Amino acid sequence: MSELNCLECGACCFQRPGTILISESDLLRWKRTERHDILAQLDEGHFSQLAFRMGPHGACIHHGTDAEPHACRIYEARGDVCREFEAGSPQCHEFRADRGLEPRKPRARRG
Ligand code: SF4
Ligand code: SF4
Repeated sequence: MSELNCLECGACCFQRPGTILISESDLLRWKRTERHDILAQLDEGHFSQLAFRMGPHGACIHHGTDAEPHACRIYEARGDVCREFEAGSPQCHEFRADRGLEPRKPRARRG
């Protein structure tokens, strides 16, 4: 299990517009649970899919509360991609390095 504390990080919620993609099951779930607030804040994303809208600071529109700047405001209803993202994974470390939260690991050399 990762020792990283996501509430002190939030790096994976800072992405280029259109890249935090919404799944079909997210859409069905939000429709079923009447989360019109979430459905109303989606933008066109890559691969002809919908994506979370990004806020003015470059993070997902649902990122941060007054008490916890890196908390997810829709945590219980967040997207599948957010649920599946693994703290401590190589991509997590890459995003953290992009945000200057840790040094970038040197790429493995081939051959
Ligand atoms: S980048 Fe990793 S540590 Fe940071 S919030 Fe995302 S999963 Fe957690
Ligand atoms: S829905 Fe929550 S966890 Fe997912 S990208 Fe947005 S703020 Fe981050």
